[in-house]
Amino acid sequence: MKTNTRLLHDRFQGDQANTGATLIPIYQTSAFGNETAEGLEAIFHHKAAGYAYTRIGNPTVASFEQRINALENGVSAVAFASGMAAITSLCLAVLSSGDEIVASAGVFGGTIGLFADLEQFGITTHYVDECTPEALEQVITQKTRMVFAEVIGNPRLDVLDVPAVSSYLKDRGDILFVADNTLATPILAQVLDMGADISIHSSSKYINGSSNAISGVLVDGGRFWWNAEAFPAMKDWKKFGPYALASKLRQKILMDMGPCLSPMNAFLNSVGMETLGLRMERQCSNALALAAALEAMDGIVSVNYPGLASSPWHKTASRVLSGGYGAILTIRLESREKAFQVINRLKYAINITNVGDVRTLIVHPRSTIYAHTPTEACEHAGVTEDLLRISVGIEDVEDLIQDFEQALQP
Ligand SMILES: *Cc1c(COP(=O)(O)O)cnc(C)c1O
Repeated sequence: MKTNTRLLHDRFQGDQANTGATLIPIYQTSAFGNETAEGLEAIFHHKAAGYAYTRIGNPTVASFEQRINALENGVSAVAFASGMAAITSLCLAVLSSGDEIVASAGVFGGTIGLFADLEQFGITTHYVDECTPEALEQVITQKTRMVFAEVIGNPRLDVLDVPAVSSYLKDRGDILFVADNTLATPILAQVLDMGADISIHSSSKYINGSSNAISGVLVDGGRFWWNAEAFPAMKDWKKFGPYALASKLRQKILMDMGPCLSPMNAFLNSVGMETLGLRMERQCSNALALAAALEAMDGIVSVNYPGLASSPWHKTASRVLSGGYGAILTIRLESREKAFQVINRLKYAINITNVGDVRTLIVHPRSTIYAHTPTEACEHAGVTEDLLRISVGIEDVEDLIQDFEQALQP
């Protein structure tokens, strides 16, 4: 099956057996009863398939997990209450005090916040301006256990050379390579096939598509072999082979810490995901056309978009991404005042701190998402006073271009 067929038919599970419903029922229930005491005992001992309590498993959530797992070519997927819950759960499942993370300086602000929070548990993070084998060589130590980077960085829009980093880290078993695939999505980047160990998403963004549910999902390629000396936290789970991480995430993290996805939100994601391929195709082509038009407009200092030849990451993007260059672009105006003026004059782009919606969204990162971030950290992340981030939607691109033209009038 090719991608769009797959989105509709792979692991497609409505309710054929009972009602013929074409969509998975929303099992909006906390718990699942069993006919017999022996039956429930068997479920708790993992001797029988079945459900007991939604914190640990739910059929609507499982259906979403299976569909995203198939789309990413993974071995298993586990869904969470948010993208941040997915990243936090991964760190808590595998890392121990004394471990080090290496992360790309361009990662999402919430992720930077989380890595700072982990310091109180003795886990430290080193940032590299660009996540390349050369840069990793300089910062990796005996204690490094995780390399974390975004396939398309937000808002720097740097593109991760997934094959280069994965072949550099290959088969070590002591450093896990995690790719945050939120902005590229499985449509543009098959990160597990390119050698990343884990693909992680805020599915609140493109996977959902309409911004109607917060959620996160982790997909495991199942190839990482968990060197037990390096990962004492995974020692007891190694016996599950390719399912080691998924087993621990369900049986320990979801069970003990509780960051589970609600059935209703899993349903909204499953429905949203069916149009992911079509939306990405349209949003990427709109982004490229808008970026090219903006580059030619007066009053713009620069346009940053991986699809433009002027982007420092254009070559890497052409190799790593297929079918488009993503749907986020940033522009620099002359000043913060000019940037604010453009936001206030635009008719269609909504002024909002979100990405991945079907509608075009715009934000001034320095005064919002990065309001409390020190200036030096902002510089590393590429956030200047005159920067605007645009998440391009599925509108007719002529309307978007016209709208920016009028907003940029002197
Ligand atoms: C939004 C986002 C997150 C966090 O996800 P939530 O669902 O908002 O918790 C993580 N990484 C990236 C790249 C994001 O854009």
